[in-house]
Amino acid sequence: MSTSPVFKLEDELVDALPAFDLDPSVPRSRRVYLEVFGCQMNKLDAELMVGALLEHGYRVTDQIDDAGAALYVTCSVRQHAEDRVLSKIGGLKRRKRREPDFVVGVLGCMAQRDAETLRRRHPYIGLICGTGEFLKLPQLLEEARRSRTPVVATDLEADVKFERRRNLGPNRAQAFVSVMRGCDQACTFCIVPATRGKEISRPVREIDDEVRALVDDGVKEVTLLGQTVNSYGKRLAPGRSIGLHHLLHQLNKISGLKRIRFITSHPRFMTPDLIDAMADLEKVCEYLHLPIQSGSDVVLRRMLRTYTIDRYRSTIEHCRRRIRGFALATDFIVGFPGESDEDFEASCGILEEMRFQGSFVFKYSPRPGTRAHDLVDDVPEPVKQERNQRLLRLQEAMSLELYRRRIGSIEEVLVEGPSKNDPTRLTGRNRAHQIVVFPAGAGRESLAGELVAVRIVDATALTLYGELVSGAGAPPAAPRAGALVASESIRLFDPVGG
Ligand code: SF4
Repeated sequence: MSTSPVFKLEDELVDALPAFDLDPSVPRSRRVYLEVFGCQMNKLDAELMVGALLEHGYRVTDQIDDAGAALYVTCSVRQHAEDRVLSKIGGLKRRKRREPDFVVGVLGCMAQRDAETLRRRHPYIGLICGTGEFLKLPQLLEEARRSRTPVVATDLEADVKFERRRNLGPNRAQAFVSVMRGCDQACTFCIVPATRGKEISRPVREIDDEVRALVDDGVKEVTLLGQTVNSYGKRLAPGRSIGLHHLLHQLNKISGLKRIRFITSHPRFMTPDLIDAMADLEKVCEYLHLPIQSGSDVVLRRMLRTYTIDRYRSTIEHCRRRIRGFALATDFIVGFPGESDEDFEASCGILEEMRFQGSFVFKYSPRPGTRAHDLVDDVPEPVKQERNQRLLRLQEAMSLELYRRRIGSIEEVLVEGPSKNDPTRLTGRNRAHQIVVFPAGAGRESLAGELVAVRIVDATALTLYGELVSGAGAPPAAPRAGALVASESIRLFDPVGG
C-alpha cells in the first residue's frame, strides 16, 4: 500500500489528496500517475478524474516508474506553471521512445488553450484533454494507448457531469463542490474565459443531492467552487432569478452539515441578498474572499474589472454592518501595464483601509491569449518585485495585528489532523479560515474531522496557537475577524501548514 500522496501538487494554494490502496495485481497499463498544478478548481477536477478512473478499473500510483500513464493537470494562469509542466513532460521523452505504450497526457487549461502547439512541438504527448472532456479520461487513455497519433479532446461544450457520491479529498470532513463552471467576465489579464468557456451553473437540486451524499460520507464542511461563484444561477431558470443565496438557504437545511464556504466571489455580484444569507444562516461562514486586484480605478478600468473602489468599499461597509465577525481576504496584482507609483500607492492605501485579514499578491505577467497581452508590459521587473514585497510587508503587519486580537478568544475549529510542521500538535481552521494549532495530547488523534473549541493563547501573522477547551461536539465559539496571508511569489506564508 502506498502511503505518500498520489497527487503531487505544484502550488502552495492547494493540498495533497490521499493515497489509494494499490493492488499488486493491477497491470501497469491500468496504473496512472497524476500531478496537479494550479487552483482548487483543478484539484476538484482531478478528484473527479480519479473517480472516473477508479470506476473503470484504473488505480492511481505515486510511483511514475510504476505507471503506464503520466498525466498532468495543468494551469495556464502563469507562465511559470506552464514551463514546469513542459520541463516535466520533456523528461519523459526518452521513456516514451523505449515504451511506445506509455502515455504522456496533458490535461486541463494548458491543453485547452494550446492543443495545437503542444501536438506540433511535443509529438510524444499521447493525450491532450481540455477542461470540458476530462470525464472521458478512461476511454481517452485506452484510445491513446492504441493510437500512434496524439488523441486530442478539447470540446468545451461537452456535457460534464460533476456529481460525485464520495469524497476523495485529503480531509474526510471537508469537500469542495463545483457549483458552476466557466466565466462570463472579460478581465483583461485572465486566461480563464478562454480555457474554461462560458458560465454554466448546476441546478440547485443536483448540488443539494451531492452535498447530502457527501455528508453521509462524513463531510462536515463544504466549499462551493466557481470562478465567480456569487454569480451562480445565471440562466438556470429563464424568467426567474436564482442566486447563490438561494443555494445557501437550501444547503443550510442539510442536517449533519456544519459549515458552508464559497470561493471565489466577484465584487460585481455581491448582492444584499447574499450578504443577508451570510449574516443569517448559521452554517455559512463569515469569511469572504473578494479579490480587489488594485486600489486604483484607472487600473481597474484597464483590467475591465467592472467595479470601482467606491463600490467595493460600500459593499464591504455593508458586510461589516450586517455580518457579525466578518473576515475579509483578497487578491492583488502588482505591476499591471501602466500601473504608476500613484496607482500602487492606492493599492497600499486600500489594503490598510479595508483591513484585509489576508492577501494573495501576484506579480503581473502577460499571458498569450489575453487582452492585456497586447498592452505594453511597461513596469520593470525590479519595480514589480519591490511593489510585491512592499504590499506583502504591509499585509503581514496587518495580519499580525488582526491575529493577535484573537488572543483570549475561544474559536470553533474543524480539526484537519496532525500539524505538518510538528506532529505533536493538531491543526485545523476556524470559521474565519485561519489556521489554528493546538497540542495533540494522548488520544486526540481521533479529533481529526471533529469540531472543537480552542482558546487562543498566541498568534503570528499566519497562525493562531491555542489550547483545547472542549472536544468533539463543542459548542461553536463566537466568530471574530482574523487573518490569512499567502503569496505565490515568496513562501513567507503557508496557508496549508500549521
Ligand atoms: S472574473 Fe475575471 S479574473 Fe475571475 S475568472 Fe473571470 S475573467 Fe478571470
